[in-house]
Amino acid sequence: MKDTAIIVVDMLYDFIDGSMACLGADDAVANTLAFLKSHRDIPVIFVRDNHPANHSSFKEFGGIWPPHCVQGTHGAAIHKDLAPFADDEGLIFYKGENPAVEQYSGFEGRNEAGQGMGEVLRLMEIDNVLVCGIATEYCVRNTAEDLLKDGFKVTILMDCLAWVDADGHKKALAEMENEGIRLI
Ligand SMILES: [Zn+2]
Repeated sequence: MKDTAIIVVDMLYDFIDGSMACLGADDAVANTLAFLKSHRDIPVIFVRDNHPANHSSFKEFGGIWPPHCVQGTHGAAIHKDLAPFADDEGLIFYKGENPAVEQYSGFEGRNEAGQGMGEVLRLMEIDNVLVCGIATEYCVRNTAEDLLKDGFKVTILMDCLAWVDADGHKKALAEMENEGIRLI
C-alpha cells in the first residue's frame, strides 16, 4: 500500500501505565504491534506528547491534567515493543513542547527537522492514513480530524485505541464517523 501510512498517537508510558494510564492501553499496544508486524510495507509515523516540566496543561500550572510526558522521562518514551518501529526521526512528530500551548493534535507536531506532518505526508505521496493510539477522545480525535480537514482519507483502527472514559470514547467514535472518518 504505497499511498498509505499509519499514525501511532501517544503510545507513551504515561498514557499506558503511568500518571495518565488509559483504559484499554495494554490491548491497544498489543494490537498495534500485531498490526505493524503484519503490515511491514506501511510507513509508521509516531506522535509524541513531549512537555517541558512547567507545561500549562498540568494542574499545577493552570491546566486540567496531572504532569505527564515530561521531556526525557520514562513516561514520555514510546512503549518498548513499538520503539523498534520508530527508527526514523523524520517520521516522529513531537507536540506540546511550548509551555504555554496545549496541543492534542499530532498534526500540529514537528519532527526533529522542524517539518509538519502534512508536509511530510505529501512528500511521501501519502493519501490514506490509518490512525491509532491514545486517547480516543483527545489526541487521536484531534489528529484524525486535522488530517481529514487537510484532505487525507482517514481510517481509525478501533482495536488499537485506549481512552480516558468509556462513554467519551464511544461518543468520539460516533462523531468522527459522522464527520467522514472511517472506522475499522
Ligand atoms: Zn500532554
